[in-house]
Amino acid sequence: MSKFYVTTPIYYVNDVPHVGHAYTTLAADVIARYYRLQLGKNNVFFLTGTDEHGQKVAQAAEENKQTPKEYADSVAPRFKEAWKSLKIYYDYFIRTTEKRHEAVASQLLQKIRDNGYIVEGVYKGWYCVGCEKFLTKTELVNGRCPLHINKEPVYQEERNYFLKLKELSKVILEKIKSGEYEIHPISKKNEILSRLELGVEDISISREGVSWGIPVPWDKNQTIYVWVEALMNYYSATQFLDGKKRFWPADLHIVGKDILWFHSVIWQALLIAADLPLPKHIFAHGFFTIDGQKMSKSLGNVISPKELIVRYGVDGTRYLLLSAVKFGSDGDIEYSKFDEKYNADLANGLGNLIARTAKMAESVNLPGRELKDISLNIGVAIQLVKSDVKEFTRALDLIWKKISKADKFINENKVWALERNLKISALEKLTDDILQIAADLKPFLPETAEKIERQFKGPEIKSENPLFPRL
Ligand SMILES: [Zn+2]
Repeated sequence: MSKFYVTTPIYYVNDVPHVGHAYTTLAADVIARYYRLQLGKNNVFFLTGTDEHGQKVAQAAEENKQTPKEYADSVAPRFKEAWKSLKIYYDYFIRTTEKRHEAVASQLLQKIRDNGYIVEGVYKGWYCVGCEKFLTKTELVNGRCPLHINKEPVYQEERNYFLKLKELSKVILEKIKSGEYEIHPISKKNEILSRLELGVEDISISREGVSWGIPVPWDKNQTIYVWVEALMNYYSATQFLDGKKRFWPADLHIVGKDILWFHSVIWQALLIAADLPLPKHIFAHGFFTIDGQKMSKSLGNVISPKELIVRYGVDGTRYLLLSAVKFGSDGDIEYSKFDEKYNADLANGLGNLIARTAKMAESVNLPGRELKDISLNIGVAIQLVKSDVKEFTRALDLIWKKISKADKFINENKVWALERNLKISALEKLTDDILQIAADLKPFLPETAEKIERQFKGPEIKSENPLFPRL
């Protein structure tokens, strides 16, 4: 592999960044950092951004007495700030109101039509503004959208353009079965397969009544359905940015499980219809509940990344989120458990190992060291990030086993009490172990890894402030 392209969903600007967005983006950051170590910085492209069109944004803007563009301009920077504060280094932040995105999306839709995959029709059905989508009978629960029980779905009947999804879905089914593109976890892949096997209808890909959107190129009375145009961001960024064309197709789309259908079926259908190569892998992760309850604005239990950073620091937050649950499963955030884990693994575990080793090294004026074998710099543990199932938790487990092992070595050999020469050789071994741990930590806790390296690479090892103050 000579390049790697990873994406997060682009986040809808009617919401401000919360821990769910942070989790997805953090996962992409770890993977991007891993591949930068493997392939070099210039061969990795990490894209995130904001989804800024559609009825929901227009409505939120109106409530704020702003134009939709002004509104989007005020929310998009909040995502950028959140990612900066978590030390998430994306390569590009796309906004779907960028003219150059609009141009590529338009061209793509025109190509799909020229290829004969778009037909005109009339759409009748229930529309949920909260989801910005039509709901089928099977999706409605007591006549309401299950995700937006407080909002009445709107009955809409309008002339639309439709994508021939019924025809395309047969091709998609074959491609998933043959493994031409992968969906993980497998349980989610199976859900998609069984839904495809039940058969799907053509879908409406334009809107007559929504003016806040990209005009359909051949019919200025319609705009492109916001979901369709938003999906196109993954492709458009590679086309309008200099030198990025070679990154298409994407190697990995990371998405929340609620939007997997759009990414594994609708998006692929659009690409097949446009004669473009398909992304290679789609990973759907689970959701966090807060103290066992669904996170929601109405419950007032939405956690912002900032709240976590204030409590646990940047790397503390990164560690707690990434180690909370196997990637792909649902998890729960409970402050008391996070506090416990922070103290046990970070303050006592990693922090204490670094502090006591540095102190002993300082007492014998031990010079800093370099890892001898450069290939070891990318450790075995983080290779797990490369696996299809993105084993963040297992990788972190392995790193923490090394931390325990080093601690045990100090205790069993009573390193602090050894005579000078033996003490020096024991500390040299410990320093090498610690530098390996730092190398392993790089994609996960970049700031901590850097601090450890600075401290132990020399010229002389010195004790410093604790990495993770106890709570
Ligand atoms: Zn809804």
